Amino acid sequence: MTSSAQLNPDVVVRFAPSPNGLLHLGHAYAAMVAHDFARQREGRFLLRIEDIDSGRSRSEFVAAILEDLRWLGLHWDGEVIFQSERLDSYALAADQLKARGLLYPCFCSRAELRQLLVDRPQPQSADGPVYPGTCRHLDPELARKRAATEPHSWRLDIAKAIAITGPLQWMDERHGSQACHPERLGDVILVPKEMPVAYHLAVTLDDARDGISHVVRGDDLFTSTHIHRLLQALLELPTPVYFHHGLLCDGKGEKLSKSRDSASLSVLRKGGQNGHGLMQDLRQGIFPVGISLL
Ligand code: GLU
Repeated sequence: MTSSAQLNPDVVVRFAPSPNGLLHLGHAYAAMVAHDFARQREGRFLLRIEDIDSGRSRSEFVAAILEDLRWLGLHWDGEVIFQSERLDSYALAADQLKARGLLYPCFCSRAELRQLLVDRPQPQSADGPVYPGTCRHLDPELARKRAATEPHSWRLDIAKAIAITGPLQWMDERHGSQACHPERLGDVILVPKEMPVAYHLAVTLDDARDGISHVVRGDDLFTSTHIHRLLQALLELPTPVYFHHGLLCDGKGEKLSKSRDSASLSVLRKGGQNGHGLMQDLRQGIFPVGISLL
């Protein structure tokens, strides 16, 4: 491994898995792309465990992630970072956005949302149907009163946010320069009902806090970057360069998922497969039968 004295300070990359299941080949590929991106530029490679969802995150999955990465020969620099240890910083940022009138409470239950979408079909984003904005129109005084007693999430008022930031761009090393269109995802939730913070806010804050220069992750998160870029502008955070890589998919063209235990790295590792050999294959574009890179 490169010694810290020789590292290029301009390149800091992270792998940021959520410990809510076992990693599979798709994660091995994602971790490899991020790791190799950092090492080829003599930069740092960090490991951040995104365990904000205490209901789904499990310590045995964290342990398996660390074991899997060691087995693959993908070594990270420094201590493992845990989002669960940073909850105060997320709450602080959410409070700032609330104080600026950029978040509004949303009382819609999942069932109500489903019904709303039947009554008034909405455009689809990569994250699902765009929220129709129902609670954005609530009388602010009434919303405040309800928020004191009723469970609610907090949504980002995208139109208000865009009016502050004006047009934004970001750079993707693979897909080129991008105009930022957060309105395509609608008023996303930044503080869910049942969690301290949502992915979009936590990841944006942490990429800044960890000094990430290049966000290297899969194409499945490409559209999320529109929201992250907007949050960077609102919170005056630096904008990293992005590199969204292709995804390992099954025969039907669907990305591999955590629920398919048979493809999990733990199963391969415990079955005696050679992790370094697997990495060599992935680096050369050799994938198991039925799996391809899309
Ligand atoms: N924690 C996210 C996941 O496991 C990835 C976060 C990111 O790379 O931005 O899907």
